[in-house]
Amino acid sequence: MDSQAEPKLKIFFFPYILGGRLIPMIDLARLFASHGVKATIVTTPHNVLLFQNPILRDQKLGYDIGFHTLNFPSEEFGLPNGCENELTTTNGDMFIKLFMAAMKLQDPLGKLLCETRPDCLVSDRLYPWTADVTDGLGIPRIVFDGSGCFSHCVEESLRRYAPHERVLSETEAFVVPGLPNKIELKRSMLPDYVKAENGFTLFLNEALEGEIKSYGIVVNSFYELEQAYADYFQKEMKRKTWHIGPVSLHNRRHIDKVERGIKTSIDEHSCLNWLDSREPNSVLYISFGSMPRITSAQLLEIAHGLEASNHPFIWVIGRILDYSSREKQQVESVLLPVGFEERVKKSKRGLIIRGWAPQLLILEHPAVGAYMNHCGWNSIIEGVTAGVPMITWPFSSEQFYNERFILNVIRVGISMGNEHWVPLKELPRVTIKSEKVAKVVKRLMGSEEAEVLAMRMRAAEYRDKAMRAFEEGGSSYANVDAFIAELKSRRKNQNGHL
Ligand code: UDP
Repeated sequence: MDSQAEPKLKIFFFPYILGGRLIPMIDLARLFASHGVKATIVTTPHNVLLFQNPILRDQKLGYDIGFHTLNFPSEEFGLPNGCENELTTTNGDMFIKLFMAAMKLQDPLGKLLCETRPDCLVSDRLYPWTADVTDGLGIPRIVFDGSGCFSHCVEESLRRYAPHERVLSETEAFVVPGLPNKIELKRSMLPDYVKAENGFTLFLNEALEGEIKSYGIVVNSFYELEQAYADYFQKEMKRKTWHIGPVSLHNRRHIDKVERGIKTSIDEHSCLNWLDSREPNSVLYISFGSMPRITSAQLLEIAHGLEASNHPFIWVIGRILDYSSREKQQVESVLLPVGFEERVKKSKRGLIIRGWAPQLLILEHPAVGAYMNHCGWNSIIEGVTAGVPMITWPFSSEQFYNERFILNVIRVGISMGNEHWVPLKELPRVTIKSEKVAKVVKRLMGSEEAEVLAMRMRAAEYRDKAMRAFEEGGSSYANVDAFIAELKSRRKNQNGHL
């Protein structure tokens, strides 16, 4: 790949403080290192500790990858030592402090870039200020947002045409204009910062300006998954993009699937033994991502619904936080219905994981037949890669747009029916009843309905396409090489002009 004479391309990767953005950025850096670049992950000490094992393993394999550590100003913002990403926060107040502290990385990053002059900086989109830092130094900035193109196309349409301003109520459906598919949303599904300008709107406007100024965007998706939207993004929105995913597929070794940052709360062997004991396609995997999202009331309804549906399940009950007060601490004891866990254990019908699950390992197991999730982009792309249909249950951020992608574009899922967006750090105000949970689970897991069978087939087809795209000869593989070739030729041209 690399000619002997030509120095390696030197790329810096600068991940954000949210788990769902940090994890894929690490995969991304490892992917590029495996294609022959010198990859440096620029992050803070405790994030280094989280991810050092996979990086050490890659180094042993001969890949040129490592960390550069920037100090994190925890103390200055009253954060406990070690709180450097959202995964370690225990209340909403800490999250705000974390957000502010991350802004302070601007000066040390600028200094580092000035001294070391990498060939490019892959920056999370939520560091808009890296656009000015790189601009001043003539270093190309590449944006990574963790998400696919579809949600950006929806956002752009809402910005351009504001269809949500022409409906009479929160519950009246409207069509998102100009997109390749008919996509309907309701005002109740839109973020508050889209419906009325607030501080976060201004922050996102900055992120958008930063993106427009940047050299290009790497997308954790594959061209065949969202072809029409990848084209829309390039042609209509004039962004230069490389679809290089699914980056989770870079975790080929068993150990990389288990140790992907956070330590799992279950021994992987007991998890796999339990899955081995189940019939193929019989298990529903339930996880709502890396952040707390479920109220205690909703937890009870899900538990009752699962019992009524009578289907095997793995249910990841992550952190349950109480955000009713910004100061309140984590609710340690999660209350499930009386006797629920004992019944589940005795009947061996379910596995409950409190904390962090080895998600990639679970999803790829043949016993898993469907995936209930919150429509975070990583969850979606990992579900697509596993070839399983999904039950969609969005809550926040751009998750309602992503839900439309599953339901209306790739058509591999059915909705749990939540229609009410809440801010990232607030808990849902609507509780879905157990009867509804049971009905949706039964429909996807148990029925031979033609539409459900068609969904299963489509999901399997997308899995095959994902695998092909990522392998040598596939579109994502070729895009990584094309990206590297373009930046090398840019470097050559620049050196020629010196
Ligand atoms: N994840 C995991 N184990 C868990 C919960 C989450 O490995 O118990 C990983 C999951 O595989 C995905 C990420 O965390 O890569 C969640 O990202 P997503 O974009 O879906 O959601 P977010 O947490 O950002 O809302």
